[in-house]
Amino acid sequence: MKLKVAIKSFGCQMNVYDSEVARGFLSDAGFEIYSESEESLPAPSAAQGGGGEENADVILMNTCSVREHAEERVYGRLGMLGKVKKTKPDLIVGLMGCMVEEHREKLFKRFPQLDFMIGTRNIKELPGLIEEVRKNRRQVAQIRQDGLSIEYSDLAKRSSPHQAWLPIMTGCDKVCTFCIVPITRGAEVSMPAREVYREASRLAADGVKWVTLLGQNVNSYRGNPSARAASFEGAGDGGKVLIADGKGEITFPRLLEMLCEIEGLKRISFTTSHPHDATEDLFQVIRRNPKISRRFHLPLQSGSDRILKRMKRLHTYDEYLASIRRLRELVPDISITTDIIAGFSGETEEDHLTTLRAFEEIRYDAAYIYKYSVRPGTPAAKLSDDVPQEIKARRNAELLDLQKKISRENAQKWIGREVTVFAEAVTAKKTGQILGSTVQDKKVVFEGPAGLVGTFQEIRITGLRNDAFSGEIVTAPALL
Ligand code: SF4
Repeated sequence: MKLKVAIKSFGCQMNVYDSEVARGFLSDAGFEIYSESEESLPAPSAAQGGGGEENADVILMNTCSVREHAEERVYGRLGMLGKVKKTKPDLIVGLMGCMVEEHREKLFKRFPQLDFMIGTRNIKELPGLIEEVRKNRRQVAQIRQDGLSIEYSDLAKRSSPHQAWLPIMTGCDKVCTFCIVPITRGAEVSMPAREVYREASRLAADGVKWVTLLGQNVNSYRGNPSARAASFEGAGDGGKVLIADGKGEITFPRLLEMLCEIEGLKRISFTTSHPHDATEDLFQVIRRNPKISRRFHLPLQSGSDRILKRMKRLHTYDEYLASIRRLRELVPDISITTDIIAGFSGETEEDHLTTLRAFEEIRYDAAYIYKYSVRPGTPAAKLSDDVPQEIKARRNAELLDLQKKISRENAQKWIGREVTVFAEAVTAKKTGQILGSTVQDKKVVFEGPAGLVGTFQEIRITGLRNDAFSGEIVTAPALL
């Protein structure tokens, strides 16, 4: 019997990519897959045999550990699935992602309803693992520690024919004291430049126009060109010559330049960057290549040097500000966004005020602001979490309110502009409406036929809706 699998992704784009690969391997092995939008977890009333996803035979959650809240959500669902299994004992429940890497077998003890766990380096073994559970009804785990946790596969079930995530490295060698990534994803490992180039070329040949390069810290990418370099510099890759740095490695700016030469690729984005590795060289490459996204996400975390030091962010506020100013000088149409932690250990009111002042000074287009939550095993877990919850909540709200005001003021300046928009999809809300993105990754909704999806259109911005602009087509559209 064909098992029906529902996969639910939590957390970052790396998890979304891993889930796309997991879907690919499962459907290739004959499992029936629910698409992300269809699926949610079966309600306790599943025993009554409700509609579509309630009929899932396997529920797999791809988990995130970056904040306490993300873990709480998964614990809540595991609790609910425990109830479902009382009336649906054959249901198979599994976990993948960062919580598996962090907690491992401890999760089996705490959740007897959990049947299997698979590590981010073992996704290929998913079909076999589910079969093993189905046959033996015993808890099993496959969690490899070493090696790359990136699997390029033409089986991956992408959610869009024209866009793709492209992980280029995993792990992180930085030591930000609040961060669990070095624990869950390990040390930095970069995909060989040749593999990245080959996968990007394959995606372009497959109709992808826009790739987003993924890594916990993409701009510290160090690709090893030497692996199988012989074949790279000649046969089959258009005689591409690599410019390796002194250590014979391909740096991130070089990788970007290489990928910009792939004919079919029209837009290249990347996330997430660290200020320490946001170099003049990178800024110059962005300036020279119009294909490279004009959205630059550069987490600041705090405007206070004292807190940046406690976080071991390896830079001061002034150094960060100098990078932002230089980038804006070289790439005037750049859009800057950031991440901020409110209420980190030891944060005073004065520290908080410096972050508010940083917002006024830098005027980000968007900021992702989170209340600090202690992550077990991180260096900051040894520091006292001494900012009371209500103070964290108040500071978080003040930052959100200020950023909302700044985002709207920045957005007002776009009204009337004519911009190139990549038509991504027909909006779910209304037919005849297209959702697209500018090269700054700003969302625009405009009237147009579905045939425009996957094309670039000249759009005049006519107004501001909630989180998107409204626009109208300037020139008669060229359908795909
Ligand atoms: S650079 Fe990012 S991923 Fe790496 S430790 Fe710091 S916050 Fe975590």
